[in-house]
Amino acid sequence: MSYISFEDVCKDYPAGNTVVHASDHVNFHIEKGEFCVVLGPSGAGKTTVLNLLGGMDKATSGRIIVGDKEITGLRSSQLTEYRRHDVGFVFQFYNLMPNLTALENVELAQQVCERALDPREVLEQVGLGQRMNNFPAQLSGGEQQRVSIARALCKTPALLLCDEPTSMQDASTRGEIIEVLRRRTEKGMSMLFVTHDLLLAAHAARKIIVLKDGRLCESGGSKEVLAAPKHPYTKALLDALPRVNRRLDDGRER
Ligand code: ADP
Ligand code: MG
Repeated sequence: MSYISFEDVCKDYPAGNTVVHASDHVNFHIEKGEFCVVLGPSGAGKTTVLNLLGGMDKATSGRIIVGDKEITGLRSSQLTEYRRHDVGFVFQFYNLMPNLTALENVELAQQVCERALDPREVLEQVGLGQRMNNFPAQLSGGEQQRVSIARALCKTPALLLCDEPTSMQDASTRGEIIEVLRRRTEKGMSMLFVTHDLLLAAHAARKIIVLKDGRLCESGGSKEVLAAPKHPYTKALLDALPRVNRRLDDGRER
């Protein structure tokens, strides 16, 4: 059985007199230690899927299973434990405490999770060894993003949910962060990573999920999906990125 199962999951949000189907009968599976990239245009339902998986939102119907837990069947106190111990979340907007230093922000992870790593070590790993005592306002957007990545990694979560976490990084820093994350997946952490960066998907991910209008367009091994996309949206994404196509044609894609 897969580590994560999303089974016929629906999430409806009321919107005036109508309903938005943010997740519309979505099915996918992710294995332990899998690096999975989630692609899709704005409003596709990417954040909704992360929120449902992270136990921050409740599905309207369907089943979500993570490891030995059925998330859709947990009571609110069990969901709190699940969020504290099993899940790390890197939000699109870093959500740092403005009155705490970078180090103190990462130390917060130690307060909710007893098996947390040394915050200083994790900050070193994301390249912020020299900036630990700076407050968020004294850090660039990219550096703040890295603090929030360090805070999530510090908990050693079994599942890491990342919502466009490297969008503000330069190419070389982005590569270093992806490498830190990829090494964690080798140690067994499963990861869903929302991004618009197809090159990242091609080079680092093992699996790709493509969403549009709340529906799953396609999912599968990253190599297979990028070499032979089935859905018109995925094909259009690839056509817009000739460099990826060339690399795939060369057979040097990973
Ligand atoms: P994405 O992350 O792919 O941009 P989202 O998951 O944030 O997409 O949103 C999917 C759809 O659900 C969008 O149409 C969005 O407006 C709607 N939506 C998301 N969250 C809410 C909410 N809390 N209330 C109402 N509608 C929402
Ligand atoms: Mg989003």
